[in-house]
Amino acid sequence: MSKPKVLIIYTGGTIGMIRDEKTGTLIPFRLERVVESIPSILELGIEIHSMELDEIIDSSNVTPSVWIELAEIIRVNYNDFDGFVILHGSDTMAYSASALSFLLENLGKPVIFTGSQLPIGLPRTDARENLITALTIAGMRNKDGRSLIPEVCIYFEDRLYRGNRTYKYNSENFDAFISRNYPILAEAGVRIRIFEERLLAQSTKDFVVHKTLNQNVAVLKLFPGLALQHYPKLYKDSRIEVVIIETFGSGNGPTSGDFLPAVKEMIDNGILVLNITQCREGRVEMGKYETSEKLLSLGVINGADLTFESAITKAMFVLGLTDNLNERRHLLTTDLRGEMTL
Ligand code: ASP
Repeated sequence: MSKPKVLIIYTGGTIGMIRDEKTGTLIPFRLERVVESIPSILELGIEIHSMELDEIIDSSNVTPSVWIELAEIIRVNYNDFDGFVILHGSDTMAYSASALSFLLENLGKPVIFTGSQLPIGLPRTDARENLITALTIAGMRNKDGRSLIPEVCIYFEDRLYRGNRTYKYNSENFDAFISRNYPILAEAGVRIRIFEERLLAQSTKDFVVHKTLNQNVAVLKLFPGLALQHYPKLYKDSRIEVVIIETFGSGNGPTSGDFLPAVKEMIDNGILVLNITQCREGRVEMGKYETSEKLLSLGVINGADLTFESAITKAMFVLGLTDNLNERRHLLTTDLRGEMTL
């Protein structure tokens, strides 16, 4: 069998940063330097190609157009590679991985996001291990020669996660990501253990790359004492099409005050209201308590156990896919890419 071929796509982030001598701040440098810093990647038995975005960014500057650009790069190179590794800042990596999971339908190959907490040039960097193992996993094939992992993942500090189940929970530890509502897909110790039964099934349908994301999505995070008069645009602005409400516990909100009338007004105005929980583990179960029953009867959509990152990007994706309100509602409550447990 020929060597697996993996394409590295470098977008920026700490992994490729150096210290600007004048200002002392961390700024991005070019991809050749990243690969130069780890000569051992040439011994992995993988044919590695690399490219970078025109503009190398700190991931706080990521936008939906970057996600569409990445999806397009994968579309163009899809048939030539067994897998893709995207080097990306960790701050918004979970948003980007979630967005890509929706844009890439019937994906049959791994798209693995990785990065690091310390720049690649530093002695204690976590970048080397993250990049080497992400490349190794991206190059893995089945006995029949097909790519082993047909989904968008995040690899960070010994673990492979489903991208759209993951969030960054620690800004200091190497172990920066977590997936609370879905188990890890692989673990890297002395050997790399892939939990194949947890992977998405290979699709028999054609690979489709979507190119439209609609940003008419707003968020309302509940807190005791929330004064809704500070958010008049939420239900008066005709451009908003989805409002994600981040509720308490299993999907609860106040039954007194102006919250429920505001939700009703949003829904009457044709806005889809998606309920996700502020808890990072567990799920929305509307109707369990009186404080969520009314939301259910008003027509609020159950976001189940979606992460915040997945809810945002799924909403943008669904709005971009269809203008039909019933179809949008149906798609938001359907598990499209393994992002929610129904
Ligand atoms: N600020 C950086 C970024 O997200 C942090 C990192 O790469 O980990 O681009």
